[in-house]
Parts: sequence; C-alpha cells; structure tokens
Amino acid sequence: MDLLDQIYNAGVVGAGGAGFPTHVKLNCKVEYLILNGSECEPLIATDKYLMRTKAAEIIETLERIAGMIEAKKIVIGLKQKYTTEIDCLKSAIKELKSKIELHCLDNFYPAGDEQILVYEITGKTIPPAGIPLHVGAVVSNVGTVVNIHEALYGNPVISSYVSVLGEVSNPRILKVPIGTPILNCIEKAGGATLNDYSIILGGPMMGKILNKSELEHSVITKTNGAIIIVPDNHYLVNRDKISIEHIINRAKSACIQCSYCTEFCPRYLIGHPLQPHKIMRAIALSEYDDSIKAAQLCCECGVCELYACPMGLSPRQVNIYIKNELREKGYRYKNTGNEFYVREVRENRKIPTKRLMARVDVTKYSGQKLEELKEIFVSTVKIPLRQHIGKSATSLVNVGDIVEKGQLIGSVEKGELGANVHASINGKVVEVSECVVIQSENMEVEV
Ligand code: SF4
Ligand code: SF4
Repeated sequence: MDLLDQIYNAGVVGAGGAGFPTHVKLNCKVEYLILNGSECEPLIATDKYLMRTKAAEIIETLERIAGMIEAKKIVIGLKQKYTTEIDCLKSAIKELKSKIELHCLDNFYPAGDEQILVYEITGKTIPPAGIPLHVGAVVSNVGTVVNIHEALYGNPVISSYVSVLGEVSNPRILKVPIGTPILNCIEKAGGATLNDYSIILGGPMMGKILNKSELEHSVITKTNGAIIIVPDNHYLVNRDKISIEHIINRAKSACIQCSYCTEFCPRYLIGHPLQPHKIMRAIALSEYDDSIKAAQLCCECGVCELYACPMGLSPRQVNIYIKNELREKGYRYKNTGNEFYVREVRENRKIPTKRLMARVDVTKYSGQKLEELKEIFVSTVKIPLRQHIGKSATSLVNVGDIVEKGQLIGSVEKGELGANVHASINGKVVEVSECVVIQSENMEVEV
C-alpha cells in the first residue's frame, strides 16, 4: 500500500487548522516540504512537546513524505527560542543522516501563518487567495506529521494532543481520545480554579471562545490542540460578546482612518492588496466599492483589532462579516496580478509575541510550566463525522453495534474531499447522528 493510501485509510487531516484532508493535500509534486513548527499562537505548547519527544519519528516521516511528493528541500520552520526542540531535532537529523534543514525564526506573530512561513523560508509570496502549492510548496503541521507516522504502522487518528492551561490547577499536556468532552479535559488538568470561566479553544488570537453552557456539548476533534481557561470577564471574552451590528456602528462612528490596521496587517505586508482601513471606510460610508472584495484575503489573524487599532475597533470582524456576505452571493476573489512585492517596512512591523500577550491580557499564563503528558481514558465519546473541510463521512455503524478502538466507523470515497473517522474507544454505539456516540462498558479509567 502506498503512503497516500495509508494516510487516507488513517483519516489524517491537518491537525493545526481547519482540517484539510491530508491525502488530498499531499497528492502533489513540489519543490519544498515545510514543517510548520513555529507554534504561531502564544501560550500553546503542544507542537513543542511533540518536537521534543518525537523528533526521530518526525524526521523519518518527513523524509517519507518528501520522497512521495518529490520535494527537493525539506525545511522545518520553528522559533529560534525553542532551543531544546532545536537540539532534539538536530540530533535526530544527525542520527538518521537526513538532509532536513531547520529555519529559525524570531519570536513574532503570526510566524506560523502558512503564507508568512512560506515567505520566510522560500522568499516567495503566495499569490492572493492562493495556496503554498502555487509557489511550489506544501506545509504540514507537526501534529499532522505525527499522525502520518502512526498511519505508516496502520494506526488511524483516534487521539489528539492538547495543551490545557490558564485558570486550571495543573496546566498540562493531555493525550485524549477524539470525541472526549472538553469538560473532561479540564477536569484532568486538575479542574478550573474559577467558578465563572470561559475557554478559548485554540490560541488567544484565533481560537474560538466558548462559555460554560456551550462547553457542555463540545468535544475534542482531530484539529484541537489547546484549551485555555480564562475568567468569564476576560478582555477577549468581553470582545467576543460584541454584536456585529454594534461593531459596524462603531466602525462608522469611531474609525479615524489612521490606517494602522493596514500598516500592521501581515497579509498586506507580504504584498497582498488587503487594506482593512479601506474596508472600514467603505462600510462606514456604505460605499461598497471593489476594496471590500479584498476582505476575502483576510486570514483572521486578529492583528488589526487586537494589536493595531488605537480605537479598539474590529476590522477582522468586519472582514468576516463581508466574507460571509460575499460567499452567500457566490463571489470568489479573483487574482488579477502576477507578482507581489513585500513591503519594505515589513521587517520592522513584525509583532513581538511578548507585547502581543500583554495587549490581549494573557501574560500571566505565559510562565505556566505545563506538566508532561498524561494520557486519559474516558467512558463516553461523541465523535463528529465531520472534523475536517469537505464532505462529512458516512456512518458505517448503527445504534447497538459493538465497536473496537481503531475501527472504521465513518468513511469517505478516496477521491472525495473528506476524511475517514474511527472509533476512539472500545464500546457500544448509543447514538448515530452528525456524531457517533460510543459508550464503554467499563467505568472511566486513567493511567
Ligand atoms: S485579521 Fe486584520 S491583520 Fe489579520 S489578515 Fe485580516 S485584516 Fe489583516
Ligand atoms: S486602525 Fe482602527 S481607527 Fe485606524 S483605520 Fe484601522 S480601524 Fe480605523
């Protein structure tokens, strides 16, 4: 069986983003294979943990992938400050006589944005609305490569590595079965230290904010790598509560057209025609000219609203609103230029992570030392049949079926954009809807 089939069978999807099916992404021939090890968002430590503890597996797997896609250069992009991880990777490279290179980056945000990383490593700007393939590159996340390594041995994706930190008693990294309730993860990290809390699923800049009642129905999927528990009145939680109507009204009344949002926008700085201040002006004046179409180029990194804007406005939310409107109308951004030039000021506009953390009020969690891995076992999992971009998997099980850990319970055809789904625990299927709920006969156990 070839590697692409093994990846497809195992249901591997991008572990760090929206969950693009990996067997589709790697069905290409490119010059560069890039491992994104720069853990873009502040506080998250999952990829660092994997690079420290699974360096040899990562190097070996990257070599296998590069062989398949005929990549001539294999580069791991990570931050210069990750000295332990750099040492681990260097020893694995030496031991395995690999030619993989490390590209060390400063500690800035968003170093791990795929387009920024590709520019940093190759010196090429991906065209607006394009993907790394357009400049001969493919980018994989660390968790994805670890899952591909498992796939080489016939092991499907049935667990996620998750950093749990913030307002918990024992911040730590957990390995949890897919479909585990998030509340169980919080409990396994010693429980929340506050009564009134919300969580950020993902990083502080781009993560999804969930309040306690939303949490009751939320589970870990293949794309989750971090849970940050914050007070219910945290700055980021309060911002998340503002309605889009209010955001647009504030854009109309308070935007001073200083253009800082544009001057710091990472996509603008690599040469894309995205100028959020013009979009804010267009929405304020209700003049929907061509400038608003560039909202589709926004990667939602949050720099404009959480770092740049002196008025506390939300260009990112405005862009999301416009993107949704344009999508509903069936409009897709069309790239009209051929070459894109990085703005000269870019180097001086990189945002230091330390300063960013202070702006979004998470500095107090940056000193937390995450305890090493704890693998947890749970008695019930709720496994979504769609944890990825594309088509939902079709359930292969019925209520009452007994399933084994690793068994295929949802499938997609190989040529389709989607991913297979597997049982993450042994047990009985008690519900089949958009999710498959499996209940173990045993009580919850842990090691
Ligand atoms: S969120 Fe703001 S800063 Fe980030 S890409 Fe979009 S417009 Fe630019
Ligand atoms: S930074 Fe804020 S005030 Fe300045 S142009 Fe952008 S949205 Fe308007």
